[in-house]
Amino acid sequence: MFKSSYLNELMERVIARNPHEPEFHQAVREVLESLEPVVEQSPEYVTSGVLERLVEPERIIKFRVPWTTDDGKVVVNRGFRIQFNSAIGPYKGGLRFHPSVYEGIIKFLGFEQIFKNSLTGLPIGGGKGGSDFDPKGKSDSEVMRFCQSYMTELFKYVGADVDVPAGDIGVGAREIGYLYGQYKRITNLYEGVLTGKGLTYGGSLGRKQATGYGLCYFTQAMLEAKGSSFDGKTVVISGSGNVAIYACEKATTLGAKVIAMSDSNGYIVDNNGIDLDAIKEIKEVKRQRIKEYITTHPTATYTEGCSGIWTVKCDIALPCATQNEINEESAKALVKNGVSAVSEGANMPSTPEAIAVFREAGVLFGPAKAANAGGVATSALEMTQNSERLSWTFEEVDAKLHTIMINIYNNASSAAERYGMPGNLVAGANIAGFLKVADAMLAQGVV
Ligand code: NDP
Repeated sequence: MFKSSYLNELMERVIARNPHEPEFHQAVREVLESLEPVVEQSPEYVTSGVLERLVEPERIIKFRVPWTTDDGKVVVNRGFRIQFNSAIGPYKGGLRFHPSVYEGIIKFLGFEQIFKNSLTGLPIGGGKGGSDFDPKGKSDSEVMRFCQSYMTELFKYVGADVDVPAGDIGVGAREIGYLYGQYKRITNLYEGVLTGKGLTYGGSLGRKQATGYGLCYFTQAMLEAKGSSFDGKTVVISGSGNVAIYACEKATTLGAKVIAMSDSNGYIVDNNGIDLDAIKEIKEVKRQRIKEYITTHPTATYTEGCSGIWTVKCDIALPCATQNEINEESAKALVKNGVSAVSEGANMPSTPEAIAVFREAGVLFGPAKAANAGGVATSALEMTQNSERLSWTFEEVDAKLHTIMINIYNNASSAAERYGMPGNLVAGANIAGFLKVADAMLAQGVV
């Protein structure tokens, strides 16, 4: 329940107009809760209908993606692209290929992307896309045929100055390569229509590392504000994909010891510190399950099931797998074991109940919109390099990423303070992200 009857009615309308989409409702509710003091102080956001317009995507594209398996069977998947808000720049946001994908997941991710992209300070609007296709267990040629079919429809709606997708769960360098090849073939355009591209065809150095590194830069800023740091801390990271791997790499460089990682089957604990080269070989090169780790690291343990990872005692937890992976029970287990900071690499990995547990216990909490914005920020830097027809060095990109993450922390922190919620980075990130988009929408009239 909100104090404002206007916000209550708006939330009810969102639920009624988007039934059976609990993840989208969850994402909207969190933002509206944060905006309550803003709306109170600035009624023009209500009278101009900015909030009603923000919760309604500008465009939803939904399409059939037929493709053929290696043994000749025809399979039909469903493709999505939601172009949520273009007030401050072309739509930008990843593509997710995972069997759990449906319209509500893409809507929640696209909605969050609006505020995240605004927080980066770069000119990018919010969008997201994907499919219920599961790349796991498919051959390279099956993945290629799927990607080609997906792009054969998607190309009508995207472009370097229109909408620029990137990777997300299930969409890595391989998928981006196939998607880019098909776009170029159909349109005869060599342009920066996708980010996360390979380095030989317009990709940016540092993009692969950006979300994980950015997460650690943000978390370090959050810790430093309290006189702490990664140095000497134990860290648990869920997932073992793109975000998790590079979060592990940077946290280790900053002096921490990462002791646990997971995949969608289970988790490993290595009290000697995770051997990241082994994880990269298993997950990036061989595309195997994480349990393979214990065959070469006999002192490590493997446990089936994902949620148990939050019972591993640690100082810092970095959820980097998927939405709602930390529920109230997991949050309580983390707090009981003395966690001092939780920072979100994945999108919306903590349930509202979990966030409440962290807040009550005084745990430092870095919300996804702010903490994982380094990926999309570096994607925007890739767009800049493509427009310039130039490539920057790794050091240049990484330095820019570092500055962006520190600015995001400072902006979220000062917005929280300005609206009477010091230390509440959830509210601060939502407010800081909102204000820029809302002011652009006000300036552009009712569109
Ligand atoms: P990847 O596909 O590279 O890795 C995802 C990891 O999470 C894998 O280890 C996967 O395990 C695990 N996982 C996926 N689904 C589940 C599930 N339902 N339960 C438990 N584990 C699961 O994706 P990314 O690393 O790119 O993305 C991870 C998160 O970070 C997502 O929430 C994404 O939206 C977010 N994010 C990603 C960005 C990026 O730049 N890539 C930018 C900002 C946010 P398995 O191998 O078994 O599938």
